[in-house]
Amino acid sequence: MKDKLLEVKNLSTYFYTTEGVVYALDDVSFSLNKGETLGIVGESGSGKSVTALSIMRLVQSPPGKIVSGEIILDNESILNKSKEEMQNIRGDKVAMIFQEPMTALNPVLTIGYQIMESLRIHQKLNKKEAREKAIDMLRKVGIANPEKRIDDYPHQLSGGMRQRAMIAIALCCNPSLLICDEPTTALDVTIQAQILELINKLKKDLNTSVIMITHDLGVVAQVSDNVMVMYAGKEMEYSSAKDLFMKPLHPYTQALLESIPTVNKNEERLTVIEGMVPSLSNRPEGCLFHPRCHKCMDICKIKRPELVKTKEGREVRCFLYSNEGREEENNGK
Ligand code: SF4
Repeated sequence: MKDKLLEVKNLSTYFYTTEGVVYALDDVSFSLNKGETLGIVGESGSGKSVTALSIMRLVQSPPGKIVSGEIILDNESILNKSKEEMQNIRGDKVAMIFQEPMTALNPVLTIGYQIMESLRIHQKLNKKEAREKAIDMLRKVGIANPEKRIDDYPHQLSGGMRQRAMIAIALCCNPSLLICDEPTTALDVTIQAQILELINKLKKDLNTSVIMITHDLGVVAQVSDNVMVMYAGKEMEYSSAKDLFMKPLHPYTQALLESIPTVNKNEERLTVIEGMVPSLSNRPEGCLFHPRCHKCMDICKIKRPELVKTKEGREVRCFLYSNEGREEENNGK
C-alpha cells in the first residue's frame, strides 16, 4: 500500500461578501500519495486555486474562511497550526509555484537573494552556504551560467527563466509537496513543455509529490497519476489519469475532453461547453452542472447528486451512475 502524503477531508472554504456567501470550495475530499502527481482540472471558478490556497492556509481572511474539514499533511493536521507554525511548514514541507512569476517574485530583490532568504530561514544556512546552494539550485532548474544569473533581478530574465527561478525558490528546501497553480499558462508552448519536463524530473529526483492545477487537460495528461475534475467548488470526478482519458464518466469531463482541439478533427468550429459556470453565491438547485448538461434528467434539477464510487474505485458525482438516477432513466422520466 502506498504512503499517503496529503489527505483533504470534507474541506469547505467560503467567502463572505456584501453580495452573499460565495461557496468557493464545498465539501471536497481527496488524497495524494508520496511521489505522485494529482492533476486538478476545471474551468475558471471551479475552486482549483482556492483548494491550493486552503492547503497553504493562504486564504485571505476576511472575506475568506475555511469553515470545515481537515487537511492532514504527512500525518499532521495543519488546520489548527498557528501563523508561525504555518510559516515553517510553507517552504519546508509545502511550496507553491504561481501562474505569473513576475507578480510572485519581488522585483526589487535579486533572484539569488530570494532563493537564499528561504534557505537561511528554513535550513539555517550561512550566507556563503546559501549562495552555493542557490547556484546549485539554479543549475538544477536549467538556468545557464548560474554563477552570474544569481545576481540578476526578475526583470532581467525571460518569462521561462523567471518560472525556472520560481521553481528553484519553491524546491530549494526540498518540500514534500509542491503545488503548481497554472505554472505554464503564461508561457509559450515550447517553454511550457520544458517547464513540465523539468517539474517531472525534479519530482523524481527529489521524490516530491505534486498537485498540478490547470484548466489544460493536455498538461494534466502529461504529468498526472490521478486527476480530480472540479466544477463550481465541487469534485465531479476522481480517477487515474489513464482511466479518465480512456473513459471519462462525468458528462462535464466528457465535455471538457471533447472541447480539446486536435489536428484530426475535421470540424470547422471548436466544440464548446455551452452556458457558463454558475455564480458561486447563487448556485442552481440540484446538480450544479444541470443547466449545461445534455444528459440532464428530472431528478438532476431538484436533487444534488452524491459522489458514487464505481467497482473500479473511481469516483463520480452524477445520477447516471447511482441507483436513484438509473431508476429515473428506466422510467423514462
Ligand atoms: Fe448531468 Fe444529471 Fe449527471 Fe448532473 S447528475 S451531470 S445533470 S446527468
